[in-house]
Amino acid sequence: MDSEKKALAFKAVRAVRVQRYALLSTARKLISAAGRASGLKYGHDFHRTAKCKYIRHGGTSVEVHKDKEHGKAFFANLVTCGSVWSCPVCAAKIQERRREEIAQAIDWAYVNNFQPVMVTLTFPHRAWNKLRPLLDQQAKALQRLRAGQPWEKFKTSVDLQGLIRSLELTHGDNGWHPHTHELWFVRSSVDAALMLPEILKRWQSACIRAGLLDKNNQAQMAAFQVHAVDVKGWCSASDYLAKQDDSRNWGVDREIAKGSTKAGRAKGRHAFGLLADASGTTAAAKRAGRLYMVYIAAMRGKRQLFWSRGLKERVQVEDLTDETLAVESREEADFLGSIDDSDWHTVRTTGAWAPLLDAAEVGGWPAVQALIDRLTLVEISRLEGLLSTA
Ligand SMILES: [Zn+2]
Repeated sequence: MDSEKKALAFKAVRAVRVQRYALLSTARKLISAAGRASGLKYGHDFHRTAKCKYIRHGGTSVEVHKDKEHGKAFFANLVTCGSVWSCPVCAAKIQERRREEIAQAIDWAYVNNFQPVMVTLTFPHRAWNKLRPLLDQQAKALQRLRAGQPWEKFKTSVDLQGLIRSLELTHGDNGWHPHTHELWFVRSSVDAALMLPEILKRWQSACIRAGLLDKNNQAQMAAFQVHAVDVKGWCSASDYLAKQDDSRNWGVDREIAKGSTKAGRAKGRHAFGLLADASGTTAAAKRAGRLYMVYIAAMRGKRQLFWSRGLKERVQVEDLTDETLAVESREEADFLGSIDDSDWHTVRTTGAWAPLLDAAEVGGWPAVQALIDRLTLVEISRLEGLLSTA
């Protein structure tokens, strides 16, 4: 990459980073308020994301490091929540890596002459559906889809090698919309279009039995036939990842763009789209904030990506937790300096996470120190202003 292109790419990365930290601040406020309302002394104890990149690890000071290869700066010795559902900063880090793993699985399939088939499974939902029961019913339906002799027979007929499932949740005009995108690895000679009727038949019966579909409602049944299952054969890594980008938005920038348009809101917002709409005091902002809290409570502990047993070993993908991936590696990075508690307090109160990392990347430690000096002056005059109006 030439230097001009590199500079542009860096600029884009920085713009997104500002947004991610701003969203994390919104999340922190929402979680802390909910925590205090539930009687906790420290509101941020309510959910780990409220402490993410905010609270330092005991006995150590916050450090700034810079990655040798990419020149990206990052904080060390801070709590890192590792939540792919609730934290815009950790999610970005984790998803960057998960995308590579999925691409690796698809490469593996092509090399070994298996066909990657994308199977999207949805079901009807209404604005009044409560989220938790809906998720339980979805889990039951997914289980039923793959239970019993007929499934074993089907599996053998397509020579199913394994699958990767991505669990997605959005909120739109018709309420909560949990759905899954799956990657199935099947025999190369299978005609994916011919798989559709069998999958649709099984998914329909699974949804009826799980209470997600009413067999006496003809309109609903007809719509289900058209929309509930989508099958695409010989899909590429970009097909699959684009589908996820569309429904869940691995990139916060896209999610924000979507949340801010009416069409985007109708189609459905992911947690970070809700967060983007939750700042401010309007009724719509308050509602978005409440939905975000419902979202993260319901998704807590759920795995976003599931690989069928043995598939990671075959693809040679190491089995690492989200929490592990969210922590930046210090091994290939230069230590720039440490920030003492009072300076860290200033960085937090002025919300300067992203500007500090920008400074570290552009001008190294002297630039970080200069920024902290400026922020301290800003903070002092703000406090003086408060005193004089008191
Ligand atoms: Zn986090």
